[in-house]
Amino acid sequence: MLKLWMFVALLLCHSLAVFAVPPVPPVPTDPHSFANIEQVQSRKLTLDLTVDFEQQQLHGFVEHELHRKDPKVEQMILDSRALVIEKVLQANDQGDWQIATFTLGEVDAIKGQPLTINLVSTTTKIRVYYRTTAASSGLQWLSAAQTSEKRQPFLFSQSQAIHARSWIPLQDTPALRVSYQARIRTPKQLLAVMSADNSQNTERDGDYRFVMPQPIPSYLIAIAVGDLHFQSMSEHTGVYAEKTWLAKAAAEFNDTQKMMDVASKLYGQYPWGRYDLLILPASFPFGGMENPRLSFITPTVITGDKSLVSLIAHELAHSWSGNLVTNSNWNDLWLNEGFTNFFENRLMAEVYGPARAAMEYSLSVKDLQRDIAELEPLDTALQLQLAGRDPDDAFSQVAYVKGQLFLQLLENKFGRTRFDGFISAYFQQFAFQSMDTQTFLKFLQQQLLDKYPGVVSQAEVEQWVFGPGLPQGFPTQPSDAFEQVAKLQQAWLAQEIGLAELPSQAWTVHEWLHFINLLPRDLAPAKLAELDAAFSFSQSGNAEIFVAWSRLAIPLNYLPVMPQVKQFLLRVGRTKFVVPLYRLLLDNPAQQVFANDIYQQAKAGYHPLTQAQIDKAFGG
Ligand SMILES: [Zn+2]
Repeated sequence: MLKLWMFVALLLCHSLAVFAVPPVPPVPTDPHSFANIEQVQSRKLTLDLTVDFEQQQLHGFVEHELHRKDPKVEQMILDSRALVIEKVLQANDQGDWQIATFTLGEVDAIKGQPLTINLVSTTTKIRVYYRTTAASSGLQWLSAAQTSEKRQPFLFSQSQAIHARSWIPLQDTPALRVSYQARIRTPKQLLAVMSADNSQNTERDGDYRFVMPQPIPSYLIAIAVGDLHFQSMSEHTGVYAEKTWLAKAAAEFNDTQKMMDVASKLYGQYPWGRYDLLILPASFPFGGMENPRLSFITPTVITGDKSLVSLIAHELAHSWSGNLVTNSNWNDLWLNEGFTNFFENRLMAEVYGPARAAMEYSLSVKDLQRDIAELEPLDTALQLQLAGRDPDDAFSQVAYVKGQLFLQLLENKFGRTRFDGFISAYFQQFAFQSMDTQTFLKFLQQQLLDKYPGVVSQAEVEQWVFGPGLPQGFPTQPSDAFEQVAKLQQAWLAQEIGLAELPSQAWTVHEWLHFINLLPRDLAPAKLAELDAAFSFSQSGNAEIFVAWSRLAIPLNYLPVMPQVKQFLLRVGRTKFVVPLYRLLLDNPAQQVFANDIYQQAKAGYHPLTQAQIDKAFGG
């Protein structure tokens, strides 16, 4: 654990680095990459891969076009993890290919292995032939039985944070951008899609070609292969999914074009051409992944009532914050996620009205407070210190919601018009570039703090960015609807009214979530049963409601929910839901064996990232 004085020392270092040193930003270094990008860079790559479902393996080659920063550079270091490297070739600009020697370095538990390739002075391209392995953490191979249709196998990638290196040997750092093209061979009956120019009417022949002409960070390179079909939602938006989900998803998310139009009006033209959604099997470890042109989406937000479509607003917002202006390493994740959460809430207010946006905002604050209570103080600062740690640790609500609240504070203080202008200028000035906290703070100082003195102090900014926890006086969005819910709940708890008197028919999912979150954590068993009888929380098909209810019910050892918890954990692999459920079961001595039994059954169906987090909960 970090001592207080060390934390203060860190704060001081940061303050000096940001506000006292001359205005030359330090060259951002990425503690999670071996790549020598200050000497040589791959700015364009070509993939040629075969998808082998029997071996559960990708094999083929990646070709990198070299951009020398140091003309004397003799080696190129790529990141890799759990790959079998078969051979490496290099070519000069005449296209003469020859063998290149290489070494695969020692395994680092977090970073993987450096692949060091010896170059000759005329090398302009290298080509690495390789195979993935069962330990390639960025891929999940699903058997037919693990898919929604249960007829064909499925493969999808999840490259963020540093898992692209487990399926492509490359310079795996968000400090660098690369455009790519790919040829992907699959079984004939399956369709491949990528974070690229997917065609809506490709012939299904098992041979697919893609181009992503815009430079993107490596963590946004993505692939999925399965029995996928396409349904258009508007001229520029559509859905790829297994048949089970196709029509449902297209109906649920048919406001996507509206969101896109509003977003373009707010912060500048949508920069990527089309915006499609890919619905993944329920084992997908995240809510969504903002792969450019094709966001990957969990089916757990398809509820039939658009109650959870803020996820789409979030992934779409990433088209600007994250995909266009990108955190330069994972310590600065808040620049991706805080901006995106802020942008998401703004979109929700514009498209669905401020009342709904206020409810979602309050629910997010609650999630943040829960995370802060559980995290080490150092992990509750916006800028993180993740050297020597797994960058997947960065993904708490701190980067998302504390980042959002900081930006909301700035908007409240400087006014919406000025702050909108500030954000538009930020996206425009730094488009297709990487951004670190120090550079952002300098831009903030120039564009707002210095221009409008006396509105927000440097000390306030530093407290938010480098200080622990949630600063006092953080901005809130009062919700009349939530106040009403709280009042009625109080009346019920005081036995002044019965459950039948709650306007439950009129309540939205958000009001229900607030109602459940507010319930006393020591509610009597009879009260739990009364609620469940009235509202069937244990049977809820809305994952957010079911998990909020389980958070209350499991610690109280409310047995009627347990069979449903088991079913849920066997069906869904989204870490946001399953990790807390396992933790709660393990914290309840009466349910530890039950938790272990479920995990033994469910484990094979979970993504490697989900497994890693649950293993941690089990103390492994
Ligand atoms: Zn995000």
